[in-house]
Amino acid sequence: MNYVQRVLEELKKKNPCEPEFHQAAEEILLSLAPVVERHPEYEKAALLERFTEPERAVLFRVPWVDDRGAVHVNKGYRVQFNSAIGPYKGGLRFHPSVNLSIIKFLGLEQILKNSLTGLPIGGGKGGSDFDPKGKSEGEIMRFCQSFMTELFRHIGQDTDVPAGDIGVGGREIGYLFGQYKRLRGEHVGVLTGRGLSYGGSLVRTEATGYGLVYMVEEAMNCRGETLSGKKVIVSGSGNVALYACEKAQALGATVIAMYDSDGYVLDMGGIDLAVMKQIKEVERGRIKEYAARVKGAKYFEGCRGIWSVPCDVALPCATQNEIGGESARRLVAGGVKYVGEGANMPTDPEGIEVFRRAGVVFLPAKAANAGGVATSALEMAQSSGRMYWTFEEVDAKLREIMVGIYHNMDGAAKEYGVAGDYVAGANIAGFLKVAEAMTAQGIV
Ligand code: NDP
Repeated sequence: MNYVQRVLEELKKKNPCEPEFHQAAEEILLSLAPVVERHPEYEKAALLERFTEPERAVLFRVPWVDDRGAVHVNKGYRVQFNSAIGPYKGGLRFHPSVNLSIIKFLGLEQILKNSLTGLPIGGGKGGSDFDPKGKSEGEIMRFCQSFMTELFRHIGQDTDVPAGDIGVGGREIGYLFGQYKRLRGEHVGVLTGRGLSYGGSLVRTEATGYGLVYMVEEAMNCRGETLSGKKVIVSGSGNVALYACEKAQALGATVIAMYDSDGYVLDMGGIDLAVMKQIKEVERGRIKEYAARVKGAKYFEGCRGIWSVPCDVALPCATQNEIGGESARRLVAGGVKYVGEGANMPTDPEGIEVFRRAGVVFLPAKAANAGGVATSALEMAQSSGRMYWTFEEVDAKLREIMVGIYHNMDGAAKEYGVAGDYVAGANIAGFLKVAEAMTAQGIV
C-alpha cells in the first residue's frame, strides 16, 4: 500500500463517523500522490499525517435563554487546524447540521484555500449546531454572547481570527465582536467581516461572490470567451450567491435561477437583484416571495430541479454536496460548460467525475471561493495598519488575487501532468507552500 493510501486508511479508522471529513481528505490526499512521490522526505517526516490532524480542536457548551425563559444548550466548535503559514483563519457556521465532521472538512479545506491566496494565513473553522432561523434579535444576540464567552480565550488577532459562514453574517459578527471586546477590553482585529463603522473592510461583504465570478471570467478569457450573454444558474440566495449574481450580471451574464432550502425561482428575463436582496437581506424572507413580486418569475418547490435548467455556467453557492452525479448529468445535458464552486464542497466526487468526463471547466471551491478569506486577510492588514483602502483599491486587489490563484492552480496542474484538472491543481499548489513551511519548522 502506498503512503497516501495508508494515511487515508488510518485517517478513516481513527476518525470514524466523520463522512464529510473523509470525503475532503480523500479528495485532497489522492491528488497529492504525485507530490509525495517527488518528495520522499515528506513520508519520513509524517507530513501527511500531521497535515490531516488538527493542531487543536476545542469543543464547548453554549447555554442560552430564549425569549420565553426556556434554557437551551448548543454545541460549540473551533478547530485550529494548521498555523504553519500564519494565524488560524476561517469562518464560523451556525446551522443545525453542524458537527465535528463538517467543521473538520471545512478546516482542512481552509488550510489549502488560505495558502492559495498567497497571504500569510493558516487554516481553522468553527461554529455551532444553533439554528438562527426564526430566532428573535434578542435570542441571536444572547446566543452570540454565550458562544463568545467561551471562544474568546482561544482566539486573538495574532493566533486565530474567525469570520462568518452559513448563518453568520454582519449582524452575528457584530454581536460576537462586542462580547469579545467586553471580555478582553481590547478593540482589535480578532474577527473579520466587521461593520465598516468598527474596523471592517470595504468589499468584504461582496468578496466571495465577486471573487468567484472573477475567477470564472478569467477561465473563460483564457479560452477566448466572456461572461457576456451567458445564462447562469446560482444556487443559494445568501451572502455568496447574492454577490455572485450581482457581479455576473454586471459582466453581462443573465442569472436565470436561484434557490433557498425550500425551492427555486426561475426568471428567464434575469433575476431582479434589488427584489432578491430586499427579500433575503432586509426581510430575511423566503425565496418563494420573489415569484409573487416579479412578473414572469416562477417558483418550484424543492431545490434539485434547478440543475435541470439549461445554462452555460453553474455557480453552486449554498452548501456541501448540492450536486451529485444525477444533478451533474442534468447540467451536462443542459449544456453547462463552466462550473464555479462558491460554496464549500458543493459537488460530490461522482458529480466531479461527471464534469471531468464531459470536459466541463470545473473550478473547485478552495480556489474559486477564496476571495472571501483573501479579503478578510486584507481587512486584517488594514486593521493592523490602522488604515482604510477604498472600494476600488480592495476590489482591484481581490481581482488580482483571484486571477493569480487561477494561474497558480493551472500551472501546478500542468507541472504535475494533470493539465486542466483544477481539483488536483488547487490541492497541489496550496499544499506545496504549507509543506515547505511545515518542513522548515521541524516536527511540530
Ligand atoms: P448564507 O447563510 O448567507 O446563505 C446560505 C444559502 O444557502 C441560503 O440561501 C440557504 O438557504 C442555502 N442553504 C443552506 N443549506 C442548504 C441546504 N441544505 N439545502 C439548500 N439550500 C441551503 O451562507 P453563505 O452565503 O455565507 O455561505 C454559502 C456557502 O459558501 C457555504 O458553503 C460557505 O461555507 C461558503 N463560503 C462562504 C464564504 C463567505 O464569505 N460567506 C466564504 C467561502 C465559502 P436557507 O436560507 O433556506 O437556509
